[in-house]
Amino acid sequence: MKNYEGLAASPGIAIGQAWIFRPQTPNIDTRSITEDEIKSEYRAFRNAQAKVDAHLEALYNRVLEKQGEHEAAIFESHRELLADEELENDIQALIRDERKTATAAVKEYLDQVAASMRALEDEYLRERAAEFEDLQNNLLLALNGLPFASLASAPPDSVIFAEDLTPSETAQLDVEKVRGFVLEHGGLTSHVAILARNLGMPAVMGMRNIMNEVRSGITALLDGDTGKLILDPDDKTRGLYTEKKAQQDAQKAEYAKLHGKPATTEDGKTFALYSNIGSPNDLHLIDENGSEGIGLFRSEFLFMENKQAPSEDQQYAIYRKVAEHMKGKTVILRLLDIGGDKPLSYLNFPKEENPFLGWRGVRLYKDNPEVFLSQIRAAIRAAAYGDLWVMIPMVISLDEVRWVKQQIAEQSVKLEAEGRNHNPHIKVGIMIETPASALIAEQLAQEAAFFSIGTNDLTQYTLAVDRGNTKISVLYDGLHPAVLRLMKMTCDAGRKAGIDVGICGEMGGQLEATPLLVGMGFNEISISGKMLPAVKYSISRLNAAACRELLDKAIAANDAEAVRKLLQDIKH
Ligand code: PEP
Ligand code: MG
Repeated sequence: MKNYEGLAASPGIAIGQAWIFRPQTPNIDTRSITEDEIKSEYRAFRNAQAKVDAHLEALYNRVLEKQGEHEAAIFESHRELLADEELENDIQALIRDERKTATAAVKEYLDQVAASMRALEDEYLRERAAEFEDLQNNLLLALNGLPFASLASAPPDSVIFAEDLTPSETAQLDVEKVRGFVLEHGGLTSHVAILARNLGMPAVMGMRNIMNEVRSGITALLDGDTGKLILDPDDKTRGLYTEKKAQQDAQKAEYAKLHGKPATTEDGKTFALYSNIGSPNDLHLIDENGSEGIGLFRSEFLFMENKQAPSEDQQYAIYRKVAEHMKGKTVILRLLDIGGDKPLSYLNFPKEENPFLGWRGVRLYKDNPEVFLSQIRAAIRAAAYGDLWVMIPMVISLDEVRWVKQQIAEQSVKLEAEGRNHNPHIKVGIMIETPASALIAEQLAQEAAFFSIGTNDLTQYTLAVDRGNTKISVLYDGLHPAVLRLMKMTCDAGRKAGIDVGICGEMGGQLEATPLLVGMGFNEISISGKMLPAVKYSISRLNAAACRELLDKAIAANDAEAVRKLLQDIKH
């Protein structure tokens, strides 16, 4: 028996037989070609393009049938990248003007694209670099006449070991057969880690040199909660983990019993549980989680994905798709929240000393009327097809809310005159994510149709701790009584004014905070990723009256540690 430690990339316990995946490495021909060879290299590239396209189409159909549309979507997106005219033109230019072979041209062009994506600040876009590398690898395999890598031959009950997995390889993992996987590379936010979590497949990553340690067929036991890997475990260890796995399975079964039921405390107080999404690609979370609405649709990803802003019609199509998918359930679309850590290449961002305290969220709208108006028009139009509300980010004053509402009213009149279907009564609410907005919540409630607390920023601004600065991350703590006090003030102000108050920051999915959120009496709790069933289970075991008492003590506590001690006495 041998123990190893890696990164806990996707939770759960897996026990199976090790299966080693070692795809072939394609060769890059770096010589300079002659003029006579240009045509044959073009042809080689186009043949490779066609081969990869056919391969992606076959994968799409197979994954669609076995796993569903969401999992298959990645192959469609690779086909689109492959068919891009710019890609073809630029690769041909490298062959023609720089006399590169097709392999060298494909390598150089896609290396550059991937590198420029990796240089972006946004994590989501950085991860898209992996997609270009994936495509590059497939094109190079085809140009070398090598077979495409396939995980389809993994035997039943296997644990896969690989140096790394590309996004398309990960999407081929057969959840019926494969128990989990171990990678030498990969980080917690890598594409493959996100996919593994979406598939619910245990994974451990960043385990250097493991390929030299493991033999095919040996028993592998991995714990995706702690990042542990045990090869050839003894009977005692195996028994221990089998029991732990049984406990986890039992817990999942408990969660499953609550699927489709409301989140109600033992003394009868019900909370609506919503999901956070970043694009229509996340809609699968709604059915999987049993979400009752979307409490935060972060619209900025639509704007960050492209080199220019999406048009009104493009936005309208997307917002309408989301609204219709929800069939009358509430969708809270957050208006563009760009700036801070999320700049946009096509807007002129000034160099700022303190971007988080600078030109971000609602502060940008007046300076960018085209972008802003296209978004509100798209939203008002889409709101005719479902219960779509809009929410303003980074508010600190009543004037900001009044101004946005004024613009919405003006655009509604225009849409009416244009004879376009729209909803002039769209609800306009605000995010409470600055201390200023929490402190004047009573005043803001005169204009806002609802509040949603963004605890990520509220914590950052209340404690003056940069949310992304790892050096001071121990200070970034939403359980600080100052943050809780502002949250409670917001809830009380909303209740007094008779408007809905929700929460959409990450705290919504933090189980340790659930009793405090129950104590605050939110109308709606919007949760990221797959934590919703666990939060619901936790709520079902809590007593709302006891949580209210606990909250009163928590806001009077000296620090976050004291709050944690109070929380220990509450079982859930
Ligand atoms: C927040 O600040 O809590 C929030 C939900 O917004 P974002 O994380 O997108 O800034
Ligand atoms: Mg925020």
